[in-house]
Amino acid sequence: MKALRRFTVRAHLPERLAALGELSTNLRWSWHSPTQDVFAALDRGRWAEIGHDPVRMLGEVPPARMAELAADPGYCAQLDAAAADLRAYLDRPGADFGVRGVAYFSMEFGVTEVLPNYSGGLGILAGDHLKSASDLGVPLIGVGLLYRSGYFRQSLTADGWQAERYPALDPQGLPLRLLTADGSPVLVHVAMPDRRVLAARVWIAQVGRVPLLLLDSDIAGNDPDLRAVTDRLYGGDQDHRIKQEILAGIGGVRAVRAYTAAAGLPDPEVFHMNEGHAGFLGLERIREYLAAGHDFDTALAAVRAATVFTTHTPVPAGIDRFPVSLIHRYFGGAAGESDSPLLPGIGVDRIVAMGREADPALFNMAHMGLRLAQRANGVSQLHGAVSRSMFNPLWPGFDPTEVPIGSVTNGVHAPTWAAREWGEVLDTTDGSGDWETLRDLDPERLWDIRNTLRATLVGEVRRRLHESWRQRGAVAAELNWVDSVFDPAVLTVGFARRVPTYKRLTLMLRDPQRLRDLLLDPDRPAQLVVAGKSHPADEGGKALIQQVVRFADDPSVRHRIVFLPDYDMSMARYLYWGCDVWLNNPLRPLEACGTSGMKSALNGGLNLSIPDGWWDEMFDGENGWTIPTADGVTDDDRRDDLEATALYELMERTVAPRFYDRDARGLPVRWLEMVRHTLCTLGPKVQADRMVRDYAQRYYAPAAAAGRQATESDLRAAREIADYRNRVTQAWPGVRVVQVDAAGLPDTPVLGAPLSLTARVDLSGLEPRDVVVQAVLGRVSPENDLTDITTVTMSPAGRENPDGGLEVFTVETPVSLSGAVGYTVRVLPAHDLLASNAELGLVANA
Ligand SMILES: *Cc1c(COP(=O)(O)O)cnc(C)c1O
Repeated sequence: MKALRRFTVRAHLPERLAALGELSTNLRWSWHSPTQDVFAALDRGRWAEIGHDPVRMLGEVPPARMAELAADPGYCAQLDAAAADLRAYLDRPGADFGVRGVAYFSMEFGVTEVLPNYSGGLGILAGDHLKSASDLGVPLIGVGLLYRSGYFRQSLTADGWQAERYPALDPQGLPLRLLTADGSPVLVHVAMPDRRVLAARVWIAQVGRVPLLLLDSDIAGNDPDLRAVTDRLYGGDQDHRIKQEILAGIGGVRAVRAYTAAAGLPDPEVFHMNEGHAGFLGLERIREYLAAGHDFDTALAAVRAATVFTTHTPVPAGIDRFPVSLIHRYFGGAAGESDSPLLPGIGVDRIVAMGREADPALFNMAHMGLRLAQRANGVSQLHGAVSRSMFNPLWPGFDPTEVPIGSVTNGVHAPTWAAREWGEVLDTTDGSGDWETLRDLDPERLWDIRNTLRATLVGEVRRRLHESWRQRGAVAAELNWVDSVFDPAVLTVGFARRVPTYKRLTLMLRDPQRLRDLLLDPDRPAQLVVAGKSHPADEGGKALIQQVVRFADDPSVRHRIVFLPDYDMSMARYLYWGCDVWLNNPLRPLEACGTSGMKSALNGGLNLSIPDGWWDEMFDGENGWTIPTADGVTDDDRRDDLEATALYELMERTVAPRFYDRDARGLPVRWLEMVRHTLCTLGPKVQADRMVRDYAQRYYAPAAAAGRQATESDLRAAREIADYRNRVTQAWPGVRVVQVDAAGLPDTPVLGAPLSLTARVDLSGLEPRDVVVQAVLGRVSPENDLTDITTVTMSPAGRENPDGGLEVFTVETPVSLSGAVGYTVRVLPAHDLLASNAELGLVANA
């Protein structure tokens, strides 16, 4: 009989073991192995079976066992130590980054598999961001949605097709508590069309010191369709999705306000949008300022100053867009009104303008993000450059290099992703130590750890493959072969990630015979573990999975290649620990950063990757291998052929020979040198601590300062910048460089020769202090464009004649380039409160 409803009863703990309560609900346990040991000791068998879930564990351990442990001094001492450690962790003073609070919004958060609120890299990144912020003491509040069924659970049918399941989670059984005020649950409300209201309760997941607020619409007061708003991550149609994003962005800000009020905390100074999905948060903050009596432009200036936007999408097709008609439906009022009860005071036309893009029928969430945030970044150096080009149309007239989008390369949370073996040799319990000390680690010990981790993976591969075949309909008696799948001594290659086309899951199958030969090589075999979920609506992705599964089902290779269904954090960690080589072959430059290879590197895995995302900047010739790309080959098939061939050649000629090249002690000496080099040099660079520090120093602190400045004295500076912006925008069509004269330039100038420029400029009523006039020098391309530009500020030299006419600007500068050199002169807005001269997207070129 099926249960009508499932619910969770929380355990009553004996007094002596009360500390288990907080240890189970503070998710710090997920990156603190001594705390995990405290739960495992309750019942080792169950701990493994239920998948390392402390809250569930407490619900299952019988009272008699609890009583027994409460009387066990050894256990009590272990528990007390963990509890004291958590206290000390929470009380540890944080570094002062000059920011009093950051609200970090993301549509997904992957903190632990126990809270399956993520689909892939974006969510895991957000989870790692919270964890490092907690470790460092950056005062962050995470904001997102709690999905009743998470993303989905993946299994395979007998013929290798992806099947999806959506088991419902009971929040009562998760490590969550409800946000309450005066003893009752806080409800956040957002207005929906047709006079309806969407209400949500707010769950708090405690991630070390960082609270993560998760809004949940599945409550009795909502209409059934509104209850379903938080049903699944990335499920449903555009209408469903916009409701989710309205709840996350607008409801999210309201939840933050309720949380800080209840906790007696200051309001966050900075709002960070992790991707454009949460962009509506900026509109809600504008509404707050309007409600306090400010005008829209002033409010926008104040919001922009304190907002950071991170883009993760290197292709226009990947960006979140809504039909403008949906914006009208949700943000427009009833007939005859220009604004809705959702954001009273904000006309729908102003909202539509925020997301304007080339296609007038579409509303672009990334464009809105860029317009609502004074500071923006991509997630690797290469992705920063790609983003500057992609969003160049928002800053017309500027060189792509000048588009004000920077980059912070992603990182991964070492205590979460490094195997505990590394913590032991680093002499820390959490992998946060000095990776440079591994320089001196004995090679035998290093190899020993790699072998241990590979063997652990092999056990996990067999266990999961067995389970997968049972789900595909096999009976246990047919599955004896699974017990000898994979070999703990064989070179192990991993490929696991979501399955969008650009990641090219099946590139390795380009020449099936060649792959087969690699796997079955009698002297130097390889074994390949593959995993990944396809979006449920992506039939193409499912077909790719099926191709891999069919190849792996072949009895002649099935001991050397497996596809493991249901890729998630609980599987991922075994892969990162155990794989010798981490394979990554996206279509460059579509992988904005990629983080799985970083997690592999933290465990001594060597990356074998296309030079895309993080690998483009961190490959150094010794820490793995770069698969040469066929950049510029426009025929996709041919490009795939060329890149697959390069991949096979690297595997055959370099990777496998090096792995099997052993000395008298049986050690692969050269391989181990690469492993050691990877751990020592990439170890520190790929960490989320480094990433969060970068954000804190380069984005949060400046945004906090700008936000404070903008809002002081009743938003005086915000009003000033808004007035300035309006004045400059109106005058700008008339601003012109009328004439430029050069002097001192001989016919054949030499490097360092002085160049004197005088420009006559029509400022169209603006004052010289409202602008900066720049001489731009650079190389002249065959198309007569300036590249490699440098800019020099020109000085105002007064008017042509005392009572009117053009403004004159001059400069003398040495020519610092050789070859075909050119110059031009341009006028840009200039104001102390702008983050860059390009910010307003206004430029008058000569
Ligand atoms: C790290 C991670 C990802 C992201 O991997 P990419 O290299 O960015 O594709 C996805 N899923 C899980 C479970 C992860 O741990």
